[in-house]
Amino acid sequence: MSKPAPPAAEHEHKPSNFLRQIIESDLVQGTHAQRRWAGSPGDAAHHAQAALDPAKIRTRFPPEPNGYLHVGHAKSICLNFGLARDYQGICHLRFDDTNPEKENLEYVNSIMDAVKWLGFDWNGASDASPYQASDYFEFMHRAAVYLIEQGLAYVDEQSAEDMRINRGDFSKPGIDSPFRSRSIQDNLQRFADMRAGQLPDGSAVLRAKIDMASPNINMRDPAIYRIRHATHHHTGDTWCIYPMYTFAHPIEDALENITHSICTLEFEDQRPFYDWLMARLSEGGLIQTPPPRQYEFARLNLTYVVTSKRKLAQLVSEHHVSGWDDPRMPTIVGLRRRGYTPASLQTFAERIGVTKSDSWIDYSTLEGCLREDLELKAHRAMAVLEPLKLVLTNWDEAFGAGHSEPCTLPALPHAPEGQNEVAARHFSIGKEVWIERDDFAEVPPKGYKRLSPPLTNPDGSVTPGSVIRLKGGYIIQCTGCLKDANGAVSEVHATVFPQTKSGTAGADSVKAKGVITWVGVADALRAEVRLYDRLFSEEHPDAGGKDFLQSLNPDSLKAVTAYVEPSLAQAKADDKFQFERLGYFVADRVDHSEHNLVFNRAVGLKDNWVK
Ligand code: ATP
Ligand code: MG
Repeated sequence: MSKPAPPAAEHEHKPSNFLRQIIESDLVQGTHAQRRWAGSPGDAAHHAQAALDPAKIRTRFPPEPNGYLHVGHAKSICLNFGLARDYQGICHLRFDDTNPEKENLEYVNSIMDAVKWLGFDWNGASDASPYQASDYFEFMHRAAVYLIEQGLAYVDEQSAEDMRINRGDFSKPGIDSPFRSRSIQDNLQRFADMRAGQLPDGSAVLRAKIDMASPNINMRDPAIYRIRHATHHHTGDTWCIYPMYTFAHPIEDALENITHSICTLEFEDQRPFYDWLMARLSEGGLIQTPPPRQYEFARLNLTYVVTSKRKLAQLVSEHHVSGWDDPRMPTIVGLRRRGYTPASLQTFAERIGVTKSDSWIDYSTLEGCLREDLELKAHRAMAVLEPLKLVLTNWDEAFGAGHSEPCTLPALPHAPEGQNEVAARHFSIGKEVWIERDDFAEVPPKGYKRLSPPLTNPDGSVTPGSVIRLKGGYIIQCTGCLKDANGAVSEVHATVFPQTKSGTAGADSVKAKGVITWVGVADALRAEVRLYDRLFSEEHPDAGGKDFLQSLNPDSLKAVTAYVEPSLAQAKADDKFQFERLGYFVADRVDHSEHNLVFNRAVGLKDNWVK
């Protein structure tokens, strides 16, 4: 069973969708209640003597192991595994390895990692092996022979070019191949020749014999087997003929007892063939009934993102990003390194829902889901990304030279009562602190609530320096600044009100105009902070065949050396923080260590991309 199983009532609170309605209606009608399950995939005979399938429904996630999974796959994973979880079913992880390409173990492993990380187990146990489509080649071959025997398939030896022309198009019906009327005996012999390796690649295909005049071109005798003299990574040289995807996929579903085979909309036109094939194999008693059914939903299109595996591979191979797990990549490994959590991606998948029509989801929806998850969970910390030194000129006089005053703030200000003590952050303040460069303005803009020096007005009157609080520390008043040879501000000066320490009786004895974050010079830690932004600056980077590389955002990564508060010495890779006023950050899972603090900006505190 896919974990974690929620209380029975939980799914009732989830927004319904057309897939949930179909499943619920199937459960009420007992559509799949009589299916048997022999404990492993197989044909009708394999399951015939077994007990009833304990899984109420079976769904599957069937990736081709030819790349890293991306946010679109995350939607499909959350959907398929989520439905199985909610309806006491099982979701299968099946590698669709019907192409005899070299298997890439890196991809296989990364796919398994991604599904696990998202919180799901496959095939009914926490340690189950994934299924693989190539295990079903023997049955697929038998099914093909069965179709030939029934006069429902033939070996076509037209040239590829003739086959294409004779298929017709939307306005023109197809023309029968001269090989279409071959006898069953001839077809069996010729298919055996194909299998025996007597025909070269491309010289013949096996086609289902359906209807060359069908308005659906997919029903015009689709090819179901082709010749490929290639070594398969699992089956070796056993086969030199391989099933076409449209033939293989329904069979994989049938052997695995899949009840609801959920795929993206571009497969809608394939559904009639899916049903045709399932009906023929059911009639022949080859597969268990009722056969699986296919349902289509709209794939995820996310603004400012490309999800084609080919394009993602290009970003990596041309070094536009540092790798598949670059925190700007929409891959699951990239999102994870950026600071996304499984919960945020699950919420996202649920929030965008499933529909039957294509649309674009705004990137800010994804970011909103992460903010929501981290708001209550991420420990707070102070960091200064663009440091400017602030000197409290009366410090020695007020507290004694070299004095350092301990301060504390809760790590989780919204945590339930009583938990704050456990998660308190400790740091200290002294004569010098780091502040953000833009928290000081020599000539403050209107409404500025940060540091600004005393100003002499045109009428000769003086506006005093601003009074603000150093968060968790003292209230101070700005007195001026120093500048370097270029006229840039190099140091800000202020005086401290010694009785105003946060959390003490005098805290409110002086009125502050604002609060700024800071880090003490004496106990600040240096950290590399990587300020990530969107990889593309256009909403639809690859729409209409546009060259997506043209809209790469040149400012998608800016690395700064920052100062962070001492509590971050304990940060472990993958730990998430809210740097107060700055955003959510994660300790980089690749480069961060105790001796080399590296934080990635996951998302800002507010949506800065609102149009
Ligand atoms: P790509 O086109 O990027 O190469 P793919 O669809 O070929 O992706 P598969 O490995 O075949 O990749 O995908 C596995 C599953 O993920 C399929 O069931 C597919 O429908 C689903 N999937 C792929 N992309 C998306 C997406 N953008 N939104 C929702 N589901 C998706
Ligand atoms: Mg695919």
